[in-house]
Amino acid sequence: MITTKKIVVGPMEANCFIVRDEATGRCAMIDPGAMNDALRDAIEEAGVDKFDYILLTHCHFDHVGAVSRVKELIDAPVAIHKDDAPGLRDPYVNLSGPLGGCKTIYPEADIRFTDGQTFHVGETVFTVLHTPGHTAGSCCYRAEGVIFAGDTLFYESVGRTDFPGGSLRLMRQSLNRLLGLEGDYLVYTGHYQHTTLSHERECNPYIG
Ligand SMILES: [Zn+2]
Repeated sequence: MITTKKIVVGPMEANCFIVRDEATGRCAMIDPGAMNDALRDAIEEAGVDKFDYILLTHCHFDHVGAVSRVKELIDAPVAIHKDDAPGLRDPYVNLSGPLGGCKTIYPEADIRFTDGQTFHVGETVFTVLHTPGHTAGSCCYRAEGVIFAGDTLFYESVGRTDFPGGSLRLMRQSLNRLLGLEGDYLVYTGHYQHTTLSHERECNPYIG
């Protein structure tokens, strides 16, 4: 069983998550976009020595901005899809230049993965779904009835496809892949409120 804590971080109000495997207390952090008091408190509460991975859904500054500061606290490896790994080093691709107001080169990821990669956190398994469209290496993480979708899927919407590496054609394919998964999932999105696959199958205007 997992419990998920959402922390809204940074001026873009990105959703950062701390996911805890209840059986063991081991944790993963997803998308530390910026540091704030709430995130610092949540890390303390989880335990600085409890983190196994920092999992990134994509390379944009509002999702990766606090990687260095978080790593100083929890010393866990950072993982990103291989197609978004170069963007961490490119302020044009990670949007820290165009949108963030401060061109930033982020640290190299420790782990560069491809579709289907799994991450074990205690007894919980996170499985990567490569869902390009918002960026070339955008990914969702699936675990126990929950999907962490980054900026691929939003409540009745999808992420923008006009940034470097974006593609509306690939976004539609990725959306179809997600909505075609068997059964229902709670979906924690990279911004705004959460949703479910069943709701998006009914209401998402980008299907097709
Ligand atoms: Zn993004």
